[in-house]
Amino acid sequence: MTDYDCIIIGSGIGGSASAAMMAHAGYKTLLLEKNSFIGGVTSSYQKEGFIIDVAIHFFPAGFRGRFGKILRRIDMRKTTSLRFASHLENNIAFKVKGQKGITRAGSILNAAMPKGPSQGGAPSAAIPSDFKSMGLTKDDQKELMKIMVRLLRMSKKQIQPLYDEKCTVTEYINRFTKNPAVHGIIAFITGGMFTISPRIASAAEFIKCFQEMSLTFDLSYPYGASIAIPRAFIEGMEHYGGKLKTNARVSKILVEDGKVKGVVVNDEEITSNLILSNASIKNTLYLAGENNFDKDYRTRVKNLVPSYSSITFKVALKKPIVENIAMLNLFHGELSTLESATTGRKAKSTGFMTVIPSNCDPSLAPKGRQLMIFGTMSPGEGVKDWDSWTKAYYNNLLEYLPEIEDSNLFVDSTNPNDLVKVSGKALGPVESTACTPDQVGPYRISSEMPIEGLFVVGDSAGTNTSGIGTQLAADSALKCVAMILKRRKKPN
Ligand SMILES: Cc1cc2nc3c(=O)[nH]c(=O)nc-3n(C[C@H](O)[C@H](O)[C@H](O)COP(=O)(O)OP(=O)(O)OC[C@H]3O[C@@H](n4cnc5c(N)ncnc54)[C@H](O)[C@@H]3O)c2cc1C
Repeated sequence: MTDYDCIIIGSGIGGSASAAMMAHAGYKTLLLEKNSFIGGVTSSYQKEGFIIDVAIHFFPAGFRGRFGKILRRIDMRKTTSLRFASHLENNIAFKVKGQKGITRAGSILNAAMPKGPSQGGAPSAAIPSDFKSMGLTKDDQKELMKIMVRLLRMSKKQIQPLYDEKCTVTEYINRFTKNPAVHGIIAFITGGMFTISPRIASAAEFIKCFQEMSLTFDLSYPYGASIAIPRAFIEGMEHYGGKLKTNARVSKILVEDGKVKGVVVNDEEITSNLILSNASIKNTLYLAGENNFDKDYRTRVKNLVPSYSSITFKVALKKPIVENIAMLNLFHGELSTLESATTGRKAKSTGFMTVIPSNCDPSLAPKGRQLMIFGTMSPGEGVKDWDSWTKAYYNNLLEYLPEIEDSNLFVDSTNPNDLVKVSGKALGPVESTACTPDQVGPYRISSEMPIEGLFVVGDSAGTNTSGIGTQLAADSALKCVAMILKRRKKPN
């Protein structure tokens, strides 16, 4: 007899979703979270009446993506407390450095699929005027739209071989154009999706995720901030009898004769012969004892490459400065952010992904106030002085929106070290195992570790799992739990 049928380590999207599905399947489930709060990097905190994301999030899909699938799997799609501000495609805008005003986007998708897939809309080669303001000539725009439409129209059969070719985004786009303006926009989108350069990102995974995000038409942000998503999964787990313990850092995974036996938490042993770790595959290797794995496996795990990290600013404003927009991309028409992440040198000028949570759910800010969250890519290592980076990037931010300086109540920021503390993952990556050609699709490392009963869920592992960030972590949970339930007898 063991204490639990299943122990889950970590309550990020991957851990909380797995816990809900295991509890729903009748497993006596225990979810252990090292932090005093749930949700990993999708957590949120309260300050002076604002509810603020720990990182920065905008969701490529709400209920139409994996979150809906998980809630349907646990028979709680209709009863869940989770609600999304959905279909935010038309609430996206760009602000280009040096240019006045804001340009509404949504246009790439709408121009390429004017009627939407549900109305049988076919991609058209319409050119959104928005790109003019991003420094693209008429010819550049024509070329860009041609490529966008090609990417959106590709069939699974056409995408699949690109996995085996291990082709990068840059290599693929180079087959059609060398136009630097087009490559610049593709780099911006790749950075936004995978937080790596197109020069090392998988073309197959890029096209698959770009299609999924674009054609699902479900860009979303949850009511109650990002934490509402893991909270809904944990409510699901508890509904089916599972138990959550916070402030419960697992210091060791117990292994005997090649099988898991349980975990050590705060000097206490808790037994189970099934463990799903959301603590990343690298940390799980360490927790289970490196010597329990053969050399090739150890080397493979240690050599997995994470994405870059991020510096974020959460700006609490006395009054709204941007109306009716959920996401505002601050674009500077250069690749210096990517270059800085690659070289470890501070960018002179950087762009930002901006989410305006209080425009999606007004209850996230006190009445009459506004919350804006800005994120930019940064390396996760090789920097000693994050304070000077934070200061420089904040000054960059003021170049786009100088009004922030006089109208803020406070500005919180995070650097990669803060993200390390929250997730426990070295270098504070946005995606723990980056979407490079060697690490996606059939080449992505398995959720199943070579110790009986030990699995990894989340954005670090799962062969053939796919999606952007949170969707990837959720897909890993869906596929890993399905694999386990197929093989194991239901516990009594
Ligand atoms: C700055 C930033 C911006 C992002 N932007 C987006 C975005 O806009 N859209 C998007 O879809 N995705 C985005 N992502 C990516 C997305 O958030 C992640 O891919 C996803 O949330 C990771 O989920 P996870 O389940 O792998 O685990 P995590 O959220 O990393 O959670 C791991 C959990 O395990 C716990 N843990 C670790 N070790 C232990 C231990 N020893 N004992 C107990 N508990 C432990 C941690 O405390 C944590 O709760 C962003 C990420 C970051 C960092």
